[in-house]
Amino acid sequence: MPNNVTPVEIRQNPASATLEISWNDGYVSRYGNAALRRACRCTTCRQLSDKHAPIPCPDDISIVSIDAVGAYAIQIGFSDGHDRGIFPWEYLRKLENET
Ligand SMILES: [Zn+2]
Repeated sequence: MPNNVTPVEIRQNPASATLEISWNDGYVSRYGNAALRRACRCTTCRQLSDKHAPIPCPDDISIVSIDAVGAYAIQIGFSDGHDRGIFPWEYLRKLENET
C-alpha cells in the first residue's frame, strides 16, 4: 500500500450496518459497524484485548459521528457512547484485509 492512500469518500450505509470508504487509488473498503467497534484501538479497548477480554458491543451498534483527525485518521463515535477510537488510514486498510 502506498503511503499517500487517503479516502476520497466515507459513507455510512445504515441499511446494511456498514461503513464504506472509497480510496484515492480506486479501492473501496467495507466494514461492519460492530467489527469496527471491536477493532477500536483506544487505551481502554487495547487493555481489554490484551487481557483477552471481549469488547462489549451490541450487535445492532451504529455509528453516530465521524470526525477527521488531522489528515491521517478518523475518530468514530458509536451508539454505545464510545467515541475514543482513532482509526488511521493505514489501520483501516489493514483491518479490511483481515476481515
Ligand atoms: Zn475503544
